Amino acid sequence: MKETCGIVQDLLPLYVDDVCSESSRELVSRHLAECPDCSTVLARMRNRVVDRALEQEKAEVISHQRTFFKRKSAAAGLVIAAIFMIPVLVCLIVNLVSNRTLDWFFIVLASLLLAASVIVVPLMAPKDKGLWTFGLGTGSLILLFAVTCIYSRGNWFAVATSATLFGLSVVFLPFVLRSEPLKKYVGDRRGLWYMGTITALYAIMMIVIGFYTKDPDYPVIAARVSVPVILFIWMLFGVIRYLKAGPLLKAGICLILIGGLVFAADTLFPALAGEAVEWPAFRPGVWNYSTIDANVRWLTLIIACAIGGILIIANMIRRNKK
Ligand SMILES: [Zn+2]
Repeated sequence: MKETCGIVQDLLPLYVDDVCSESSRELVSRHLAECPDCSTVLARMRNRVVDRALEQEKAEVISHQRTFFKRKSAAAGLVIAAIFMIPVLVCLIVNLVSNRTLDWFFIVLASLLLAASVIVVPLMAPKDKGLWTFGLGTGSLILLFAVTCIYSRGNWFAVATSATLFGLSVVFLPFVLRSEPLKKYVGDRRGLWYMGTITALYAIMMIVIGFYTKDPDYPVIAARVSVPVILFIWMLFGVIRYLKAGPLLKAGICLILIGGLVFAADTLFPALAGEAVEWPAFRPGVWNYSTIDANVRWLTLIIACAIGGILIIANMIRRNKK
């Protein structure tokens, strides 16, 4: 019996797949009828086949759905793009007929390009959707500035562009740096990249505004206000990112620094700009129109230092416990 079992079990895979000869099939069937061991092996094999089939079907369904949704969103993107073409064509014709030239048509084109890039691009981009949407959206916005500026004969293009780039980057740069193609260049230095880019864009914006205002005092005033603010923000970044300390200690230090800035800013910045301003006098007993500002600044400094101090002490107690 045992010898036959070996032969039958060798044949079982062919038997399950229904690809063995008629005579082998009969031999296996006859043996199975009287051998519970081989029947168990067969049952187990069939279960495994069913599992594998289910697994395969699941994968197929998922991939099918994925292609389906991709195709659907690409189709939706195409339809929306086609709808955008209607006003473009209408404006092209109207502009040509009414003015015999193309002037304001380019403003319509650029603004529709901007709308399309934030609606159509996320639907149609095969990958790196975030980066494409941000890049093309910002590009079309700058194009719109350029066209409108040329049409209105303005000279504000550089100011608007540099300010917009700075503002958009403050909000969206973290997401852009996290997106696929940039991720591998940036690595774990995302914070440094963010701060560096933002600082550079801020500097460009301030220089461009300087060219726009043409005020001879501007460079000195701008530098005296900007440099301390930038240094302060970098200092906070350094404490948060690079100080080897617990979160409570970092929060405490940042709170004291911010309290100090709120207290000092009103005196420090005019002083840096060359004006003579006195430090505020603390008169907690006198609250009227002339003392309220100085009192609030002092209270802010005291509360920030008190809470910051508590956080730093709490950090020390926690470390001692460990
Ligand atoms: Zn058997």
